Amino acid sequence: MIEGNKINKDKIAMVGTPCQILAAAKMDKYQDIIGESPINISIGLFCMENFSYNYMKELLSHYNINMKDIKECRIEKGYLWFFLTQDDVFKIPLDEAKKCIRKSCQICMDFTSELSDISVGSVGSPEGWSTIIIRTDKGLKLVDDAEKDNYIKTRPISDKGLILMDKLAMEKKKENKVEISRRERVGRPVISRRFLPEEDFEAEIADCQFKDLKSDVIDIGACVLCGACFLVCPENIIKIEDRKPEVKGECPEGCKACYAACPRTYVSEGITDKEESERKPFGDYIKIVSAKAPMINGQDGGVATALLSYALSNNIVDQVLVVDKSSTEPWKPVPKLTDNVAEVLEASGTKYAACPTFKSLKMGKEVKSGGK
Ligand SMILES: Cc1cc2nc3c(=O)[nH]c(=O)nc-3n(C[C@H](O)[C@H](O)[C@H](O)COP(=O)(O)OP(=O)(O)OC[C@H]3O[C@@H](n4cnc5c(N)ncnc54)[C@H](O)[C@@H]3O)c2cc1C
Ligand code: SF4
Ligand code: SF4
Ligand code: SF4
Repeated sequence: MIEGNKINKDKIAMVGTPCQILAAAKMDKYQDIIGESPINISIGLFCMENFSYNYMKELLSHYNINMKDIKECRIEKGYLWFFLTQDDVFKIPLDEAKKCIRKSCQICMDFTSELSDISVGSVGSPEGWSTIIIRTDKGLKLVDDAEKDNYIKTRPISDKGLILMDKLAMEKKKENKVEISRRERVGRPVISRRFLPEEDFEAEIADCQFKDLKSDVIDIGACVLCGACFLVCPENIIKIEDRKPEVKGECPEGCKACYAACPRTYVSEGITDKEESERKPFGDYIKIVSAKAPMINGQDGGVATALLSYALSNNIVDQVLVVDKSSTEPWKPVPKLTDNVAEVLEASGTKYAACPTFKSLKMGKEVKSGGK
C-alpha cells in the first residue's frame, strides 16, 4: 500500500458504466502498485454511448430548453426523450444528439460491462424489465439471494432479446474498432487496446506518471472522466471537477498509481484478452435473464437499485457507490458514497453524462485540491 493514500477501506458495492468498471478491475488487479482495492461488488450498466453535459446544454439551448428543467432522460425508438419539470416531453433524434457524444466513447469496445459481477441494461427485455448478465459466483449468489427475499423476480430472456443484444454489442465493437484504427493511423494511439502480457505490464509503465497520463489519455480525448486517477493518487495532487483532470504539484519518483488505474492506459492480458473481447459480444458470463424489482421505480426494471439496496440492507457491503442527480441541475450526475438505503433509492434512474464517480471514495481532509 502506498503511504498517504486515504482510500476508503469499507466493503463497497458500486454501479457504473463499462469504462468505470474497467477502472475498478484495474484497481483490483494492480493492488501491488496502487494499494488495496475498495470495491467488493461491481454492478455494471450497458452503455452504447454517453453525452457531454456541456455540449448537450448548448444543443438544447437552440431549442430554448434549459438543462435545469430536465428531470429525466430516456433513449428510446431512435430519440432522446427529455421529461421536463412542467410535465412536458421534448425529443430530439438520436442522430442529432450524436454530435454531443463524448469523444472517449468512440473508442469504447464494451457494451455490457464485461468485467463486472453483474451487468444490467434495458436492451433484450420488455419495457419495465431489465436484462441482467450474471458473470461471477459472487454475482450469482447476490441475484439468487435477492430473488429469494423478493427484492427482484427473474424470468428467462427471449431468443429475440438475446439476438438484439448480440447485434448491438457487435455493432458497437465493429464501429469503434474502425475509429480505433483511424486514430492509430493519425498518431493518436489507443493504448487501452494494446494488451500487454502480464509480465510486461509493470515494465512498460515503470516510468509513467501524470505527465504521461496527460499526453497518452487526457490530451488526446480518451479520458472518460472516471476519477480513478484522483482516487489512487497518494499525494492528493490531482484535481478533477467536471472537466479534464489536472495535476497541482510534484510527482514523487517511482509513483505510477494514476497511470496504472486509468481505464484508458495499457491493460494486461490477465484482465481481458484482445481477441476474446473483439469476438465475444458480452464477454464471459454464467447466465442471462430478464429481471424486475416490483417495488422500485427505476430506469428500467429497477434491478440495479434493488441489488444495491439488498447488499446494503443485508450487510453484504458497508457502503454503496451510486450516481445521483444534482439538486440544482437534475440531469447532472453527482457521485455519492452512502450507507443509507433511502439515498440508494433516490439515485435510481440513468443520467446520460459522465461524472468522476471514484472521487467520492477518497477519504480524509488532507486532500490538497479537488476533493470535498
Ligand atoms: C451513460 C449510460 C448509457 C446507457 N446506455 C444504455 C444502452 O445503450 N442500452 C441499454 O440497454 N442500457 C443502457 N444504459 C443502462 C440503462 O439506462 C439502465 O441504467 C439499466 O438498464 C439499469 O436499469 P435499472 O432500472 O435496473 O436501474 P436503476 O434501478 O434505475 O438504477 C440505475 C443506477 O445507475 C446509476 N447511474 C445512473 N447514471 C449513471 C452514470 N452516468 N454513471 C454511473 N452510474 C449511473 C445510478 O446510481 C443507479 O444506481 C445506460 C446507462 C448509462 C448511465
Ligand atoms: S467510454 Fe463512453 S460508451 Fe464506453 S462505457 Fe464509458 S461512457 Fe459508455
Ligand atoms: S499524479 Fe503523480 S503522485 Fe499522483 S498518482 Fe499520478 S504519478 Fe503518483
Ligand atoms: S485520466 Fe483519470 S479521470 Fe480520465 S479516464 Fe484516466 S483515470 Fe479516469
